[in-house]
Amino acid sequence: MPTSTFEDIAAGTPDLDDLATRNETWLASLAAAADVEACLAVILDWDRARREFETWSNLVDLRFHQVTTDSAAIADRDLSDQLSPRWTELEVAMKRSLIAHPLRGQLEDSLGAQVFALWEVDVLAFDPALKDDLVREAKLGGEYTSLLAGAELSFAGETLNLSTLTKYRVHADRDTRHDAERVHWDWFASNGEQLDRIYGDLVSLRTQMARQLGYENFIELGYKRMLRIDYGREAVERFRAQVREHVVPLARRLAEQQAATLGVDQLMAWDEPVRDPAGNPAPQGDHDWMMARAREMFDDMGSGLGEFFRLMDSGGFLDLKSRSGKAGGGFCTNFPTHGMPFVYANFNGTKGDVEVFTHEIGHAFQTYSSRKQRMVDTVWPTMESCEVHSMSLEFLTWPHMEKFFGDDAERFRKVHLAQSLTFLPYGTAVDHFQHEVYSRPEATAAERHEMWREMEKTYLPWRQWGDLPYAAKGGRWQAQQHVFGSPFYYIDYVLAQTCALQFLGRSRHDEAEAMAAYVALCGRGGEAPFQQLVRSAGLVSPFDEGCLAAVVNEAQELLGL
Ligand code: ZN
Repeated sequence: MPTSTFEDIAAGTPDLDDLATRNETWLASLAAAADVEACLAVILDWDRARREFETWSNLVDLRFHQVTTDSAAIADRDLSDQLSPRWTELEVAMKRSLIAHPLRGQLEDSLGAQVFALWEVDVLAFDPALKDDLVREAKLGGEYTSLLAGAELSFAGETLNLSTLTKYRVHADRDTRHDAERVHWDWFASNGEQLDRIYGDLVSLRTQMARQLGYENFIELGYKRMLRIDYGREAVERFRAQVREHVVPLARRLAEQQAATLGVDQLMAWDEPVRDPAGNPAPQGDHDWMMARAREMFDDMGSGLGEFFRLMDSGGFLDLKSRSGKAGGGFCTNFPTHGMPFVYANFNGTKGDVEVFTHEIGHAFQTYSSRKQRMVDTVWPTMESCEVHSMSLEFLTWPHMEKFFGDDAERFRKVHLAQSLTFLPYGTAVDHFQHEVYSRPEATAAERHEMWREMEKTYLPWRQWGDLPYAAKGGRWQAQQHVFGSPFYYIDYVLAQTCALQFLGRSRHDEAEAMAAYVALCGRGGEAPFQQLVRSAGLVSPFDEGCLAAVVNEAQELLGL
């Protein structure tokens, strides 16, 4: 039963020595199990322990984000970082034992084949011998995050950080945008050596780990870490070719149209975030006003969304206001012992508030809908499937945008769609770049910057950096956190957006049908791999020939191009 309030969510600090002893007992019981029932009893006991660990570590992470200056929250988060590798090692031992179990066939009949497929990929990506390297990798990732978080920029008489500078980078006044963009890239230029060193170290370390596991380079290991089961590198390469053929020409036309709308001769990089001379549309009220509109919207949408949102709202499972000491960003986390999610954001009065909100509620609704999955492994699907739920809800809420934007709603929808389409080539460039980097791990920093320049020429051919030399010479990728911290994650957003755009098309023709398919997909959680999940929702897999061409046609029609 879901708990009614966030206050009720509690999880004791894990005792790793105790868990190690229990792990030994589980392993011994599995080895001795004479039938499926005996195995399942062990597996379900193990699953309960995993849910408890996950609830604790998600809670600790959330509390740290909420009050980054709280010493108890900091200490708990450090403890979590310390305990995680050892817990992973224990989990991997269980997974190894299960995938090699003589009763595996019957266990698959009971638990589904997908958990076994996930465990198989997982054990190939982890080796206890790599534990120290993994800690080093996390440390380097943390170095990047701290370096960026510590940026102090002077602008318009204020001291800003990279995130608060954003409002000037998307400002309606062109000179302001340009000046803000210059301050942004000047910071990257003066920290370029550090950033190149951190990334160089990450690339060497990841390559070394991959080779230790017997792979030629990090690419294959990167795919395994992303738990990709029903597609590989060749499918992604074919997808990229489709992006170049069908999406880049449309995005180029959108850039031309944007230049005309803005009344500029040449669309410069600092013009790209703004699609209207009046500035982008913004929600017409504050946080409390938006929550009232959200309740009306989800009630109107039906399909259980209204009840779900009230449960989140009245139970205290939302933290959306910005405040000092609260970490930036937006995300959804969950507490698998209680079946409840939590949505975290930092509203700043821009249209992004509505986008982040509907996106994260999409994740939350999915993980709530699939909370009764038997194994914790499939409460969430793999990342590209996760982003289908979130990005699709951004589009499925379109008919209700008048509530937030009033007469500006149509303008919001057009901007949202144009940005979603332009994102496809950008996201693909980020992914392609990483394939280049990891297939030539010995490349110099300058060569890596040249690789990114090539990506911009291929996927973003309209981009003009003007008098911003650092970005013009190929430094843009250093502002993309995923390149450092989550290798090969980025294409997941592109694949998911391709699916979300299909939901948009369907909801324009038959809203009820699209909602029903969406809700059913959310309920399946991660019980199947990506392509099976999307096909079961009546979507075309992004890897199928013709998928992107059809998506682009539909979007062109919507934009009246
Ligand atoms: Zn997301």
